[in-house]
Amino acid sequence: MCPRLKTYRDDNRRAEPDWHNAPVPSFGSKDARLLVVGLAPGVRGANRTGRPFTGDYAGDLLYATLIQFDLARGEYRADPQDGLELIDCRITNAVRCVPPQNKPLPVEMNACRPFLSQTLSEMPSLKAIVALGRIAHDNTLRALGCKLSQYAFAHGARHDIEYGGRTLSLFDSYHCSRYNTNTGVLTPAMFRDVFKKVRKTIDSA
Ligand code: URA
Repeated sequence: MCPRLKTYRDDNRRAEPDWHNAPVPSFGSKDARLLVVGLAPGVRGANRTGRPFTGDYAGDLLYATLIQFDLARGEYRADPQDGLELIDCRITNAVRCVPPQNKPLPVEMNACRPFLSQTLSEMPSLKAIVALGRIAHDNTLRALGCKLSQYAFAHGARHDIEYGGRTLSLFDSYHCSRYNTNTGVLTPAMFRDVFKKVRKTIDSA
């Protein structure tokens, strides 16, 4: 479906035949009440290990925060065999194949959206979504059939959306990327504040 991504994947497969080098599936149970939506696998992270955010710098803050809010248990060791379990939480990406320079093209996001829509529709207990960054926010809204103009992206914002006869709460966060954390755009405290609200929403469900 995405010739540019396939070429990149083929190049990566030749260079690193032991890596996953394939679309990265969602992690966590379909029965979860929370879905975290990232951007796309990092080349040496999820594209290498096959588990979202695993081996990516962004995974260090994400998994530590999930453990802190009882949304994961175990020890995160940047390895899909680390035994880490998600609790009432699932993690997916707006784009499932690694894009060059971490930048998927609009045509690639459109091509991958049916997989995001499917991920959302196959979660009967879904109550809350965390969109990591504007691209995840936009793609999630489109996958839910919403107008982007009605829901502006803002760190810490919560948008209540009617979907399949229930209300979903979409929480926005700046992406927990190395760039955002190194530049102070996103601090661990800011990230925790988002998950504090998410925890409350899930617990009141
Ligand atoms: N790894 C992922 O799987 N997704 C991101 O958005 C970033 C790193």
